[in-house]
Amino acid sequence: MRSIFSLAILCIFSIQASLAQHQCGTEAYTRNHFKPAKEQPAIVLRGQDRDTVPNEIITIPVIVHLLFNTNEQNISDEQIKSQIDVLNKDFRRLNTDAVNTPDAFKPVAADTRIMFCLAKVTPDGKPTKGIIRKYTTKAFFLGDDGMKFSAAGGDDAWDSKKYLNIWVCTLFGRSLGYATIPGGDASLDGVVINYDVFGNTGFVRPPFNKGRTATHEVAHWLGLKHIWGDENCGSDDVDDTPRQKSYNYGCPVFPHVTSCSENASGDMFMNFMDFTDDACMNSFTYGQKMKMRSLFALGGTRNSFLYSFACDSSLASGGPLPDDTLPVIKPKASVNIYPNPAISDITITPVNDYILTGKTCSIYNVQGKLLLRQSFVSNREKINVTALPSGIYILKIGEGDEKQVVKLIKL
Ligand SMILES: [Zn+2]
Repeated sequence: MRSIFSLAILCIFSIQASLAQHQCGTEAYTRNHFKPAKEQPAIVLRGQDRDTVPNEIITIPVIVHLLFNTNEQNISDEQIKSQIDVLNKDFRRLNTDAVNTPDAFKPVAADTRIMFCLAKVTPDGKPTKGIIRKYTTKAFFLGDDGMKFSAAGGDDAWDSKKYLNIWVCTLFGRSLGYATIPGGDASLDGVVINYDVFGNTGFVRPPFNKGRTATHEVAHWLGLKHIWGDENCGSDDVDDTPRQKSYNYGCPVFPHVTSCSENASGDMFMNFMDFTDDACMNSFTYGQKMKMRSLFALGGTRNSFLYSFACDSSLASGGPLPDDTLPVIKPKASVNIYPNPAISDITITPVNDYILTGKTCSIYNVQGKLLLRQSFVSNREKINVTALPSGIYILKIGEGDEKQVVKLIKL
């Protein structure tokens, strides 16, 4: 009897503990589901033409896929917009509770200069308010990406090179959310947030009612790790976040020092990448800012966002957006002839994929009269032009699409 009672107490305690702490599924998701993207298709992103300008404001278009099964889950536009507002304040360090960052950590607290908008242009160039509402028969989704596919009761991602996809839905066990880290499959790329921790108004449940779940998950999407590195005294690969024994939850009192602490300031539990309550987290650091911004640099996983136009409503004219992807143009196959002008012999060699073997070379004078013809038996040929009088000639190699025409000057 006593053991059953203890078990019941333990269960209640576990449930309460799990409800009280900031539950983020990103680490488990990455471990169990994440696969790096296969080799990228052969496209050149025009965005990769340029690097970030130091401290430029980077604005990320967001498409919210809202999947609801009940009326309550069909949260208002106002609630959705409140989340974008929270993201902009938190990432720009314009959050009013930034004053609560302890003095010891204020010198490293940073404005990331990353912003967000609800997309104003669809991938087809049509106007949008950046919110897709969709009824689903699913009472809840598991953390296995079903919400990202229309065929599974979810909604397909928009181009994740240009949009941050945020799926707002009901997650099993009311888990708060999870994100994909950079470099994964494009159709899965984005952030998933439970509907009742999205935004800071409407149906939001305390203590996760200030929109910080999305701040935390979007930062994962931008490459940040949990501040304790998901290990005992682990590292998050950021220099200015102190080493931390584990996560914090609830609302600790500063300083929270453990055996792992580097100094008397202890844990940076108010960092957005800890698990504390929404009301008790308020900062990113300079190191975290630089880590996130590095993704937008030349060759970085999120570089294409420098060329995303979906925040600009003036481009929603019904036509396609300025295209930022181009097929790779194969270098044009052709031939090289030297010397030119020539006195005696000319040598003909292929350029790129051109094949000379089997083709015929004809030399005409400017009146169009054929003077010399030679079939190529190898991919590098010499033609003796000594017999040609000085002047200008037209040299033609091959037929049809592969035909090459070159002007030859005989001295
Ligand atoms: Zn997390």
